[in-house]
Amino acid sequence: MYEAAQFRPWLGIGVVVVSFAAAFLEGVGLGLLLPIIEITQSSSPTDADGLLGLFVRFYERFGIPFTLEYLIVSLGAVMFLRFALSFVGGWLRAILGVSYQRELRERLFDSLMYGPVDYIDEVGSDDLLNSFITETNRAAGIVMATFNITEIVLRGGVYLILATLLSPVLTAVAVVSLTVSTLLVRYVLEPAYAVGDEVANVNDELQTVSQASLQGARDVRLFNMREEFVDRMHESLDRYVTSNVRLRRNQAALQNLNQFANVIVVFGLVYAGFRMTSLSIARLGVFLFAIFRLSPVVNQINNRLYTLDGQLPHLVRVRDRLESLAERDAPATGGDQSIRTVRRVDFDDVSFSYDSGERVLDDVSFSVERGETVALVGPSGAGKSTVIALLGRLQAPDAGEIRADGTPIGDLDVREWRERLAVVRQDPFLFDGTLRENVSVGNRNASDRAVERACETAQVTEFLPELPDGYGTELGEDGVRLSGGQKQRVAIARALLKDADVLVLDEATSELDSNIEQTVYEGIRSLESEYATVSIAHRLSTVDDADRIYTLVDGSVTEVGTHDQLLASDGTYAELYATQS
Ligand code: ADP
Repeated sequence: MYEAAQFRPWLGIGVVVVSFAAAFLEGVGLGLLLPIIEITQSSSPTDADGLLGLFVRFYERFGIPFTLEYLIVSLGAVMFLRFALSFVGGWLRAILGVSYQRELRERLFDSLMYGPVDYIDEVGSDDLLNSFITETNRAAGIVMATFNITEIVLRGGVYLILATLLSPVLTAVAVVSLTVSTLLVRYVLEPAYAVGDEVANVNDELQTVSQASLQGARDVRLFNMREEFVDRMHESLDRYVTSNVRLRRNQAALQNLNQFANVIVVFGLVYAGFRMTSLSIARLGVFLFAIFRLSPVVNQINNRLYTLDGQLPHLVRVRDRLESLAERDAPATGGDQSIRTVRRVDFDDVSFSYDSGERVLDDVSFSVERGETVALVGPSGAGKSTVIALLGRLQAPDAGEIRADGTPIGDLDVREWRERLAVVRQDPFLFDGTLRENVSVGNRNASDRAVERACETAQVTEFLPELPDGYGTELGEDGVRLSGGQKQRVAIARALLKDADVLVLDEATSELDSNIEQTVYEGIRSLESEYATVSIAHRLSTVDDADRIYTLVDGSVTEVGTHDQLLASDGTYAELYATQS
């Protein structure tokens, strides 16, 4: 509530003020019953004192006749205003709650977008999606429930004041009995928080299982994992049912036990009121009515608190995510130097390890200039893709420096630096959109002619006739309608269309047939003068004409040279080459 109050203070104050006004009018309406009953019993209530006297004086002051008809019209007007205000209160609460949900979602999404990529890998997209969709929703429910409780408390306060004005002693007895019965009932039931936590866990699990089974639909079938997933899903659904039923059962038990206890208390008060006090029928009637209205208030507060308790774990999780994201360094954000073109990139004794601690790159140095192609080769796990992650500032080096035209890339404006880079990853992600949209993600203003040219070079044109709507064909989520090799070609076209200076090919053609691969490389070579090219090669034949080849083994550069030089030196490169030819 404090957070929500900070986020829209005026709205929060508005909700409380409106709730207060509605509660006050409720009290006035209830109080009006007193003169209405009195007036039907005695003809001259004008000499009355106490609550009744208050009404009499109020009507006198404003010159309104103190008659049954006027009193009833007043009651109608007061009730209309009271419910109108309640409606406004509910509306404002909804605005506050939903805006708070939006705020949480926005903060979470922005932190994920601008935070480290590692975090997404570590936590898993399924859990993050669950946080984003479900947990933020429940968290916002908490805000609405809290303001709802405020309204109920204020209303309860008004009943209490009214009852006290009519009979302080009986009110004290009522409050003590209602409190004792409520507490008793609450302690009989298990704490809601534990059940709420279980519900949150099950939601996580449901998301994980369904997402994995949909995203990995093919592997799930090919590896005969269907039964496993079906079993897991059934088990999760069982847990979902059990935990939700437990939560709701507890809520229902709480509600009914409370109502039962309250009915007993009110019966007791009716007896005590008639036997032990000398209150008039009107006063006793209104008093009992106030207590009758008060008892569900205690109930409602209890229920809301119970629900709140159950929803709290969701808010706690969203906050934990936001906090752990805030604690993580985001290597990509620093730097503000502008960069328009890049002619040269240097890696200078760069060392790096992931959070797991093991050194992945050890004093790696290499350089590449515009018009040159350098290749990084080496066994799998040697650290080649990590070099690309560092180059793209998805990670920052622990030691050493990466420079663009002499300036450390960490000092550059990250957007401008990434504009200079065109990276083709081995397993590129295609967005849910048309071919044209996917090719032009890095250059939204590219002309149709430029898109076509990039697609020709990348050999997208080779399979274009197979696509039903040509460049306007929807590729589906992550390009499901394309083969691995076709996706790679779209990714290459996308990189070539970007007006970049450094072209990075990370096993970019690993899934292409060798004849198409050759054609793609020829096309790229014809553009060589425009780029400083860093190529990580799967098939060494595609980099044998590179200006320099760096062999990376266990994170260290062990050899540098041209293809012929490296073959002659009979080292790792020669070994790898021998195994491939
Ligand atoms: P290559 O591209 O040469 O196959 P990588 O750069 O992908 O090698 O990986 C180098 C090493 O870093 C491997 O041991 C790999 O397990 C580890 N590694 C890669 N990515 C991560 C990551 N996000 N977190 C932790 N370790 C990683």
